[in-house]
Amino acid sequence: MTETHYPDTQLLIDGEWRGGVEGRTIPVVDPATGEEIGKVAHATKADLDAALAAVDRGFKVWSATSAYDRSKLMRKAADLLRSRADSIALMMTREQGKPLPEARMEVLAGADVIDWFAEEARRTYGQIIPARASGVTQMAIKLPVGPVAAFTPWNFPINQVVRKLSAALGAGCSIIVKAPEETPASPAELIRAFVDAGIPAGVVNLVYGVPAEISEYLIPHPVIRKISFTGSTPVGKQLAALAGQHMKLATMELGGHAPAIIFNDADVDKAVKTLAGSKFRNAGQVCVSPTRFLVQDGVYDKVVGSFTEAAKAIKVGGGLEDGVQMGPLANERRIPALEALIQDAVDNGAELKTGGRRIGNKGNFFEPTVLSNVPKKARIMNEEPFGPVAVFSPFTTVDEAIDEANRLPFGLASYAFTGSADTAHKLGMRIEAGMTTINHIGLALPEVPFGGMKDSGHGTEGGSDAIDAYLVTKFVTRMDA
Ligand code: NAD
Repeated sequence: MTETHYPDTQLLIDGEWRGGVEGRTIPVVDPATGEEIGKVAHATKADLDAALAAVDRGFKVWSATSAYDRSKLMRKAADLLRSRADSIALMMTREQGKPLPEARMEVLAGADVIDWFAEEARRTYGQIIPARASGVTQMAIKLPVGPVAAFTPWNFPINQVVRKLSAALGAGCSIIVKAPEETPASPAELIRAFVDAGIPAGVVNLVYGVPAEISEYLIPHPVIRKISFTGSTPVGKQLAALAGQHMKLATMELGGHAPAIIFNDADVDKAVKTLAGSKFRNAGQVCVSPTRFLVQDGVYDKVVGSFTEAAKAIKVGGGLEDGVQMGPLANERRIPALEALIQDAVDNGAELKTGGRRIGNKGNFFEPTVLSNVPKKARIMNEEPFGPVAVFSPFTTVDEAIDEANRLPFGLASYAFTGSADTAHKLGMRIEAGMTTINHIGLALPEVPFGGMKDSGHGTEGGSDAIDAYLVTKFVTRMDA
């Protein structure tokens, strides 16, 4: 594959790669140039009906396949994905914008996720429960919940799919993935790795189209037994409500507004270097991105000064260029959204230390931005910016920092840097977030929990509990005949 080639993306229904029955397509745009680079097939109701029939048949086949064989096939898919990392990363950078090394890392990390769930597939243990009467055997067994519908966003085109797909397949579920229309080719390549590894027809199906139409049709459908969604909190609440109305299990990985707390006793240079890298990764379009930088007053000026220098030094450009650290925003719509949030902060008295504007007029490039002394009433202190903007405000006491960290309804990731074991312990126990990482960035490995609290959703997509979301417990009691 060369830089100029980007494939059109098809649907996968019942083992067949094909267009939608109505022949409709959606254009795919390179966010670095604004040019159309390809098309993705658009599913309509007839395609969804075909996918539902296929996923139903696929469930019967896959749930009857031994965990040992499921695991072997998944590992083969992981190896295929790894072997194709270079070409898939090129597609991802063209459709999503992120720097090529980040795209490549995402593909390789995806293969690790598949391997993890392939192993977990072989450990979905039940229990034998001691019986009250002799001759009775009581068993709690774990069964796959049924066909799954998964809805994933454009910020990590592979990562967002692979966690849901691998957990579902490991558990013995079949799945319909509604992958992102903005970034369709790389998730299709992830799914191609499973097809090429020999997954039976109908076990994995892939559709694109109008997200709301697809979710409104699939979630209530009797074939679907579980849904998993990653995206914004307002959409997640709608989908969770629909799932509840139809008694479907739901995993929700939603928005965040992560506090990043730096104390006077922290290694400030390490904190700034680590957090700046994390803030501007994927142009800040990350649900766990550090956003509210709360800095103790003794080191506030120093931290804001060095962070501003770090932001100014970020090399922004097309993701295929050598040495680029931050690409364009994936969607043009984020530019006016960010500009409005920044203007509102400044109008409320915040100080713009650097950035704040679009770069050029071609592609969705945006300056790495630092705002200081941002008051709580500013919108950006309350709404997820989902872009390359770091927002600073000072605090004095540990309790004050924890109160601010917990002020918002979100509770996904949180970050802290401190030299005190006592402070670290308090933060770990008291911050209302699904994840707290202290003195380093240690989130999102396949073997550790990944998920939120409060309005950031429920359920974990990593660690030894993650496969449970795709299993149901069945009790069987048997008396000797
Ligand atoms: P959006 O709310 O329009 O869409 C977010 C995602 O949800 C997209 O992938 C979209 O296709 C999907 N979606 C929207 N409505 C849907 C529906 N009714 N049924 C099924 N899927 C639906 O926002 P956006 O402009 O694409 O992204 C900006 C916001 O989305 C951010 O502020 C952020 O909160 C959130 N977001 C979060 C993540 C994450 O990793 N948690 C990823 C992407 C976007």
